Amino acid sequence: MTSSQIPPTIPVAIIGGGIAGIMAGRTLADRSPTLLRVFERAPQVGGIAGSFRVGAFTFDYGLHCFFTSIASVAALIETTFADQHERITTHEALLRDGAWLGYPPHLALASCPPQLREDCLVDLWAAAAQPADRPPAHYAAWCYRHYGATISEQFLFPFVRKYWVLEPDQLPPEGAGRRSRPPDIRRIIRGAFGTPTESHEQFFYPRSGGFQYYCDVLAVNVPVCVNAEVVAIDLDARELRFADGARCRYQHLISTLPLPTLLERIIDAPPALRDAAANLNYTSLALVSLGLALPDVLPYRWIYSYDPNVSFTRLVAPHKLSAQNVPPGQSALQAEIYYRGAPPDAHTLYQRTLDDLHRLGLLPESAPIVACDVRYQTFANVILDAASSDVVRQIHAFLAVHDVAVCGRYATWDNGKFDQVISQAQQVARDVLNRLS
Ligand SMILES: Cc1cc2nc3c(=O)[nH]c(=O)nc-3n(C[C@H](O)[C@H](O)[C@H](O)COP(=O)(O)OP(=O)(O)OC[C@H]3O[C@@H](n4cnc5c(N)ncnc54)[C@H](O)[C@@H]3O)c2cc1C
Repeated sequence: MTSSQIPPTIPVAIIGGGIAGIMAGRTLADRSPTLLRVFERAPQVGGIAGSFRVGAFTFDYGLHCFFTSIASVAALIETTFADQHERITTHEALLRDGAWLGYPPHLALASCPPQLREDCLVDLWAAAAQPADRPPAHYAAWCYRHYGATISEQFLFPFVRKYWVLEPDQLPPEGAGRRSRPPDIRRIIRGAFGTPTESHEQFFYPRSGGFQYYCDVLAVNVPVCVNAEVVAIDLDARELRFADGARCRYQHLISTLPLPTLLERIIDAPPALRDAAANLNYTSLALVSLGLALPDVLPYRWIYSYDPNVSFTRLVAPHKLSAQNVPPGQSALQAEIYYRGAPPDAHTLYQRTLDDLHRLGLLPESAPIVACDVRYQTFANVILDAASSDVVRQIHAFLAVHDVAVCGRYATWDNGKFDQVISQAQQVARDVLNRLS
């Protein structure tokens, strides 16, 4: 249910119609749809887990696959989408110096040239044999300690530069996403022998409609106002103000907005906190999407490039996720380019991406491009650097005092995946329900 009608009052207002807002809304709507309204600034729900059309082609906002180890989310998705999505096997590679390497490359050393493979293993062994002294000061030191020089310098550092747009010594030892794990040495050695020890990972993807389909179906029966951009929040008056001049009073507020955006819109936020939020670090994502009148172009579902001279970090073939993403007999490519700060010029980015695709032999120069699009996503990955934990804690404490609940990847500032966001949003909505009754 979507509308542009903003009610003057509502018991629970939810800002943002991404998957967090949808799932918080869905949980409340199960009690009563009159309890809540989701306010989404875009004309459709889904946020970064949505999709967009360019001519007859469907693209997501960067590669999106569904997978989960959260039992309740697995059950929800399985019962809701049983025969409307497909189980797909991961098929990915790293393009390095004109050759395809397995992905991630340090777990697929058999695909590397022999000298590189040997250097990786010797340095890994040397690192493992070294006694631990002081704790590493930053991510670069952490990598050297655990993986040795070659894996660090050839694979881990180039990835950080392309994906996080930072130098490895600018990150805390745990890495930008706090997810760095010590090496599984047995796995690395097996990968070096080419022993097929791992079953390829699997994921789900909707049969049609792109990843957006998950969001659209989950949002059925959730009252959402689309084209409803919240431009100001008055916490004292418990009132939202919208771009078109409408106002809505609420009793409870759930925000899924990125913290810098939220603080910027709260008119009674302490200036120091607003500034601290504005200084939080994150990467942004530029997407160059191409529809091609060719049956197929890429030998993998998606590939990576760590080469600093190549514009994109990841290149996805949307027709290999669902044939319905493209017209019959055609194909598509989407390049993901991560940046920080001001967005790169669209025309330059488009031309550079095309040049790279031609130079790397990934797209014939004669390929008929029948659809093209360049767009930007300001918030892609949040950077959990040394300063961010304190700032995020202070912001969340301020919001809690003012009875604002938060959920979602950019409101909790934790890089949550789709499934984690679903589960977290459900919990936040249940807490609000308990306080309502
Ligand atoms: C490139 C990329 C690839 C990913 N791939 C995967 C994957 O393969 N698998 C996986 O599990 N997860 C993946 N994720 C993570 C997943 O996309 C997120 O966890 C999830 O979509 C976040 O949803 P959200 O609702 O928290 O945020 P968002 O989707 O950002 O929702 C926030 C919503 O708020 C709206 N909004 C913003 N400002 C206002 C305003 N002022 N007023 C009203 N509305 C406003 C926005 O339009 C948006 O709809 C990926 C993320 C990225 C960036």
